[in-house]
Amino acid sequence: MLVPSVPAFEVQTDDPFSSESLVTGEVLINPLFFNYPWQHAGENGSLTITFEEECSKELQVELDPNTVQPRGVANTQATVDARVTTCPPTPGSTPESVVVTFTIDPNEPVQGSEDAGGHSHNGNRPRGNFTVPKTGPTAVMCTVSTFDAQGVGTCDEPKTYFPPEVSGNVKIVAEAKDFDKAEKRINVQVPGLIPLEEVIIPTFFRLTGRTSTHFDNHYGTENTVDKIVAMAFDYFDLHNETIGINDMSLIWGGLFDIRNNWSAKPGHSRHRLGKSVDIDRCA
Ligand SMILES: [Zn+2]
Repeated sequence: MLVPSVPAFEVQTDDPFSSESLVTGEVLINPLFFNYPWQHAGENGSLTITFEEECSKELQVELDPNTVQPRGVANTQATVDARVTTCPPTPGSTPESVVVTFTIDPNEPVQGSEDAGGHSHNGNRPRGNFTVPKTGPTAVMCTVSTFDAQGVGTCDEPKTYFPPEVSGNVKIVAEAKDFDKAEKRINVQVPGLIPLEEVIIPTFFRLTGRTSTHFDNHYGTENTVDKIVAMAFDYFDLHNETIGINDMSLIWGGLFDIRNNWSAKPGHSRHRLGKSVDIDRCA
């Protein structure tokens, strides 16, 4: 913090010491001329300065719920709202309306990160839409025009977020003039999928089909994982040969685009729920 080298106080009212009534004014500290709003309520000859609290302005994103399932798996959606904290209303003045713009961060999740849902490739990744599924806009605005006694308000009309087919951790951003940018993440995922190889160390089957773009390809529901293990064991028992367990689902399920094109075509229209598995032909 800058401290003025010569802190000379200069009271900028006619005569703040002359009255017991409330006097407001400004204290200037030369030479920086910062403005310190104050009130005077002292008796004659004394000065009591009460600094006015700056009202804190804050913008927050609210998502309900903050975990949804990918499109095509379940018709889930989330309500997107803004919580705006501004200067509380005072007699004779109400806070101005705040226009909030919501966007979907086009750079998140980063490919290959733990938020990417198992996709280590770029391209035109779908991140969901506002208002309507798939074709809706990726930016919408809401107005906050009503505030409570503390100066807190929410969108007059909250918005709706529809997830993409692709699982991942998507970032919703809110911006408004004179407010710091706010953001919140929403998880798009099929819950409860577990990795096959954590259930059993495979000796009677092989894990196949891993690629650099979809490395975590052996996730499934607990039931599916149990069935695969039992099936592979029976096959090994009968033929003394291992089968190859190829693609199941990605770590959070959803679209498994084997062509790295964010499309179910060609192939792999299933593999979203953790209930499907490809078996290699060659034992
Ligand atoms: Zn992919």
